[in-house]
Amino acid sequence: MVSNEHLDVISRSGEHLLALINDVLEMSKIEAGQLTLKESYFDLYRLIYSIQEMFALKASDKGLKIITEFSPEVNQYVYGDEGKLRQILINLLGNAIKFTVAGHVALRVAYGDYALLSKESGKINVEFAVEDTGQGIASEDLELIFEAFAQAKGGRQFMQGTGLGLAISRQFARLMGGDIRAQSILAQGATFTCSVQMTVAEKVDVLPSTQVTKRVIGLEPDQPRYRILIVEDVLENRQLMLKLLESVGFEVCAAENGLKSKFKSQKFSDF
Ligand code: ADP
Repeated sequence: MVSNEHLDVISRSGEHLLALINDVLEMSKIEAGQLTLKESYFDLYRLIYSIQEMFALKASDKGLKIITEFSPEVNQYVYGDEGKLRQILINLLGNAIKFTVAGHVALRVAYGDYALLSKESGKINVEFAVEDTGQGIASEDLELIFEAFAQAKGGRQFMQGTGLGLAISRQFARLMGGDIRAQSILAQGATFTCSVQMTVAEKVDVLPSTQVTKRVIGLEPDQPRYRILIVEDVLENRQLMLKLLESVGFEVCAAENGLKSKFKSQKFSDF
């Protein structure tokens, strides 16, 4: 039987390969001059909190604190390339967590110098600073790490990663009228500051479909007892369904197929 450990390894290898393919594709797009902006109205706060949520588990597994801070002047609704900004921040936060063993990782959002670039167009200069208390980067490597396939000593020791993330992120930031710069003190930590230009927007501009979606956390109190039978032959799918439904508060049984469900339903703990 495949153990959870094996599944983890398979899943990590899959994720790594996918990231590698995506990075190489993105890099060839950049080299072919095919990189374009895909701009839309979006909720900047929501984007930042969803990214924080994404890394919460990884950070807590490593015993790291994740801090997110918004300067109060930062507009919640903006017009810009949300997808590229997400990719940059995922890369910076992912690196910060990867190269930090103790302490914290912080993401701070504020307006940069000359924040309001143009009153008429509402263009603003927003800065995203990702700070960590990790191993840091030697000063001679601070520019090199932005080159494609380049890694600093710490990155090479890790034996993973492609060395493409920062090269791609910098191209994205430049396309958005900004840049990324790195500062670091070796053995104390690093701060990557990404600036991008966006346009201020109003809440009404943001499509309802992109507004905050609520997460199910449990059944309302005093509900009738709902019993659910899951019949699914793939073990991983069955376990996932069981976990999801049980965590909400349903009474759940699972079986591999109809035949087994008739005679013997298994509780999650029986697997
Ligand atoms: P990858 O993480 O896939 O190696 P990146 O382009 O994202 O590629 O990063 C390049 C290198 O920069 C890393 O291998 C590492 O040496 C260094 N680096 C990036 N972020 C950090 C960080 N927060 N702390 C220390 N080193 C970092």
